[in-house]
Amino acid sequence: MMPNFYCEYCGKKFPSIPSLTGAYCPKHPAGFSKGKHKLYEGGEKSQYFCKYCGAKFNSLQQLTSSSCPRHPDGFSKGKHAPAL
Ligand SMILES: [Zn+2]
Ligand SMILES: [Zn+2]
Repeated sequence: MMPNFYCEYCGKKFPSIPSLTGAYCPKHPAGFSKGKHKLYEGGEKSQYFCKYCGAKFNSLQQLTSSSCPRHPDGFSKGKHAPAL
């Protein structure tokens, strides 16, 4: 089975690293499509944890689509970020 690659910002799944790093990310921290997807370097898991607050999610897409109460920029100033 081929591994899948996920974006750390939006949780989108890609079949290869070049396809991931070559496309703009709608959830880039600098703003909508202000930069490319970033490779999530952790492995594929059944559960993901936010590295800031420890919240648990079943997918990276869920994790990256809700605001984090312990985001370093301030309360809910950004999305959860996956721990590796
Ligand atoms: Zn992305
Ligand atoms: Zn969080």
